[in-house]
Amino acid sequence: MSETNLVNKAKYLSIKDFLDQHQAVLVAVSKTKTKEAILQLYELGHRIFGENRAKELQEKAQELPQDIKWHMIGHLQSNKVKYIAPYVSMIHSVDQVKLIKEINKRAQQNDKIINILLQIHIAEEETKHGFDQDEIMDLLIGKKYQYPHTNIVGVMGMATFTDDLNQIRKEFSVLKSIFDKLKQSIFQEKEDFKFISMGMSGDYTIAIEEGSNMVRIGSLIFGEREY
Ligand SMILES: *Cc1c(COP(=O)(O)O)cnc(C)c1O
Repeated sequence: MSETNLVNKAKYLSIKDFLDQHQAVLVAVSKTKTKEAILQLYELGHRIFGENRAKELQEKAQELPQDIKWHMIGHLQSNKVKYIAPYVSMIHSVDQVKLIKEINKRAQQNDKIINILLQIHIAEEETKHGFDQDEIMDLLIGKKYQYPHTNIVGVMGMATFTDDLNQIRKEFSVLKSIFDKLKQSIFQEKEDFKFISMGMSGDYTIAIEEGSNMVRIGSLIFGEREY
């Protein structure tokens, strides 16, 4: 009996191969997709999955294999952190000090340290979330950063929603340069500050060219989402 293909296996393998060559991590974005679809990719050996809703991540994590690494990639409200704290291995969308405080608190309650990426505002659109450079410096300089149950392992950004590939490229290069600046100053000694999460289905090759080492890909692997 053959089961329905919920994963584009050939596409996954070619993306994985490309990313391996560039030493970049693939976060398979499984939001809105079923547990069966996730399991099909799991059976190909994949372990890192991204979700953008707290409740959905919680529910999937409770029912799927324990060795899956769950990444929260979407905008996260402070009052939802408690749902994901026991399960999440990395939060990409950390865009406010208030959210860091809450992640720290919930991680402590769960006796763990949660890896976070600082989301940086690189898009033209005002509606996109993220810190700007000054806010990051303000947060990190001196002894201000006292959230020991969070571990900052890199930065994340989302480009403007546009067909203009040059603009997307420019925004990615801004994120890379902010990462480099942080790496050369505040995080010089911190080896695990190393991830630049940028690139999705439509722009991941540009992102890699601009220095990404973590991409978040959904529709190319699982097909278009239906809401
Ligand atoms: C949905 C989503 C993605 C993946 O989008 P695709 O275009 O399906 O690859 C990546 N990052 C974030 C933050 C998302 O919400």
